[in-house]
Amino acid sequence: MPTRTLVEDLVDAGHILFHEGVLDAFGHVSARHPDGERFLMSRSMAPVQAGAGDILAFGLDGEPADAQGRKVFLERHIHAALYRARPEVRAVVHSHSPALIPFGVVSGAALRPVCHMSGFLVHGAPVFDIADVAGDGSDMLIRDRRLGDALAAAMGGATIVLMRGHGVTVAADSVEKAVYCAVYAQANARLVLDAARLGGEIRYLTAAEGLAAEHANDGQIGRAWDLWRRAARQATAGLR
Ligand SMILES: [Zn+2]
Repeated sequence: MPTRTLVEDLVDAGHILFHEGVLDAFGHVSARHPDGERFLMSRSMAPVQAGAGDILAFGLDGEPADAQGRKVFLERHIHAALYRARPEVRAVVHSHSPALIPFGVVSGAALRPVCHMSGFLVHGAPVFDIADVAGDGSDMLIRDRRLGDALAAAMGGATIVLMRGHGVTVAADSVEKAVYCAVYAQANARLVLDAARLGGEIRYLTAAEGLAAEHANDGQIGRAWDLWRRAARQATAGLR
């Protein structure tokens, strides 16, 4: 097992994402192993209940190195595909974040930043429609390598991909940023829907504003991480 810190961060990430309302019993978070050729993710369980002993190593083919009979997530292929396709990606969050689902199912809807905290959305939020790859009778899950690769291709270089009728996946260069983006993508979705209720035209951040805001926020992510971790550790201790 690699540095204890990375395993701890991954465990904290699951607790934070539950506490912030991004993950529930489902969804998962992973981190690329420092050697670059593997990734770390818990065995199949609710992320808020995972501890360091539940973290397993997986090859970039999505298969666990030594699961010792423990059940692994079906959708580990989401993570494996992104680590294969994007060397800069160090962490991945997959959620069924309810506020984001509408943006993947309404034609013409677009998830664009309306708030500086979600400036990273200027990199786009493409929609992956599993029906394009698996036909119109799938169970919507990314359950094999082919579907994982199709999802990664649809995502391109974006920070987030919307998965029609299913959820979202976020990829970033650190566990802290992946968690930050998963939280603020959901917050941005709620803000867009609130703004739409006011009836006027929505004025989104420009591309330049989004990039500048992302740059500014990148220096502040540690503040959010420290707060969320402390709050989550206290609030979820009884669930483990
Ligand atoms: Zn899923």
